Order: sequence, then C-alpha cells, then structure tokens
Amino acid sequence: HAKEAGRDTYRFFTPAMNARVRARLRLENRLRQALEQGEFELWYQPRVRLADGRICGAEALLRWRHPEDGWISPGDFIPLAEEIGLIVPIDQWVLEEVCRQNLEWQRRGLGEIPVAVNLSAMDFRRPDFRDRIVRVLADTGIDPRWLELELTESVLLQHTDEIMATLQWLRSLGVNFAIDDFGTGYSSLAYLKQLPVSMLKVDRSFVRDVPGDPNDEAIVKAVIELGQVFGLQVVAEGVETEAQLQFLCRLGCDSVQGFRFSRPQPAAEFERLLCREPFRTCD
Ligand code: C2E
Ligand code: MG
Ligand code: MG
Ligand code: MG
Repeated sequence: HAKEAGRDTYRFFTPAMNARVRARLRLENRLRQALEQGEFELWYQPRVRLADGRICGAEALLRWRHPEDGWISPGDFIPLAEEIGLIVPIDQWVLEEVCRQNLEWQRRGLGEIPVAVNLSAMDFRRPDFRDRIVRVLADTGIDPRWLELELTESVLLQHTDEIMATLQWLRSLGVNFAIDDFGTGYSSLAYLKQLPVSMLKVDRSFVRDVPGDPNDEAIVKAVIELGQVFGLQVVAEGVETEAQLQFLCRLGCDSVQGFRFSRPQPAAEFERLLCREPFRTCD
C-alpha cells in the first residue's frame, strides 16, 4: 500500500515541486552535517541597563557559516531544524558553547554577566531536558546564575505541569528564565504569577513604532507595569533609535537590546564591547 501511495503522490509532483523537494532534502542533509563539521557559530548581542548604560547581560544568537552560501540566519534554518528534530542537539551545543565562553570571559576578567540561550519548545518537551541542563552545568562548572534560558509563551501552553516543575527545579539551582517575544503569544496572567521567570522580553514588533503608535505605546507601558507588579525585569528588544530609547527611559524600562547599541557580534568583537565605557542612555 505504502508503495502505491508513494507512487501516487509522486505523480502529483510537478517538475517545480520536485526541484523544491530536492532542495529541501539537500538543505536537511547539509544541516545535519553542519553540526558535525563545526559550521555553527554564536554571535553575542549585549543587553544594556538603562540606569547606568552598562552591559548587564548578553544573548547568544546562532549563525551558520555555510561553506558556499556564507552566513545564514537562524530564521532560515531553525524552523527546518525543529521539524527534523535536529534543534535538540544544536541547542545542546549552544548551551555548552555559551557556558564555556562565558567562563572564559570570567577567567580573563572581562566581566561577569549572565548569557542567554534561546531554547525551542521541543527542547522542553524532551524527558531528559532537566538532565541535559544539569550535565552542561556540571561539565563546565559554571555557576548556574550566569545561565539564562529564554522560552516563548508557546512552551508554557503545551505541557504546563511537567514543565513548570522542571523550571522550578532549575530555578532553585539558580538558573534564570526569560520569556522571549513577550506579548506575541497567548499570555496568561495566571502563568506569570506562578512561573519562576525573572525577565520579560518585550517583542520588537511592539517597540518598532514607539513613540508614535498609541496602541504600541500602551502595550509597552502595560508590559513594563506588569513587570513592576510581578517583580520581573523588563527588557525591550529591537531598540534602534534614540527616540525609542528615550521613550523606554521615561516608562522605567530596566534594560534594552538592539542595534541602537550593538548588533549581534562574533565573540572576539563582543569582548571589545565588554571593555568599553558605559553607553550613554537616558537624558
Ligand atoms: P529572538 O530570540 O527574539 O532574537 C532577537 C532577534 O532580533 C535576533 O535575530 C537579533 O539579531 C534581532 N535583533 C536584535 N536587535 C535588533 C534590532 O535593533 N533591530 C532588528 N530589526 N532586529 C534586531 P536572529 O539572530 O536572526 O535570531 C532570530 C531568532 O532565531 C531568535 O529570535 C530566536 O528565536 C532564534 N534563535 C537564535 N539563536 C537560536 C538558538 O541558538 N537556538 C534556538 N532554538 N533558537 C535561536
Ligand atoms: Mg531571544
Ligand atoms: Mg525575541
Ligand atoms: Mg524568538
């Protein structure tokens, strides 16, 4: 039957579809090889505290250095990596690399900052998720407080009880959690109250048109107030302009990330940022 169905399905492929399927299979295979061949690299973007302009954290962002096509952004390969389950070993590599890199920065006296790792919903769904994190902490010997895990609201909807227990346990070790792209998913205030999360990251779609767009202004203001009520740090993502920055200052946002201060940078360039004077922030 399977064979017949396969043949039937095949018949409906136009030459163009065929080409697309082949391109996708090729990309799948290349992606699998990329991890083995060390083609992934982490770039780092600073998080800047508005109160004093200092770098108070960083986010590790994955880049793929494709031998023929050059740098590829995560948006172009993470959805596929998730589909084929490859995101789990990729993120495991990211976790190890971030902890190793951060410890190295500490040993060289470049600073002590938490570094954030983006995790996919699939990572949290794995029964060995908790052990994976513990293994990375144990293998590298890093203090858990220097590790920050970013999760999206979609994670919280899926397997609430189990995930909640795991998050709480990791939190008790000192690991920090942030909700990424906050406001774009289904946000339940009930979750916020219970979650061992210490940070909300306002999605950059809400930051883009402030000041000016009354709806977005209201949303950003509400998230900052929510953070204050629940005792959570609020970070604004995607801050590109001086006007956005000053708007966030006026509302009492804690820290920001964005091209206004720095694009994500390879580790060596990020180190130079760690050594510089504080940024000028609020007027
Ligand atoms: P994200 O976690 O929300 O990361 C923020 C994205 O916004 C990054 O895109 C960053 O380069 C970009 N960005 C930062 N500041 C600005 C700005 O001022 N303006 C604009 N226009 N963009 C800004 P990037 O690096 O392409 O990453 C995209 C997404 O891919 C991330 O969104 C995250 O969800 C995912 N991702 C990145 N690295 C990893 C990883 O190691 N593992 C997993 N599972 N996902 C990752
Ligand atoms: Mg993120
Ligand atoms: Mg985000
Ligand atoms: Mg994201």
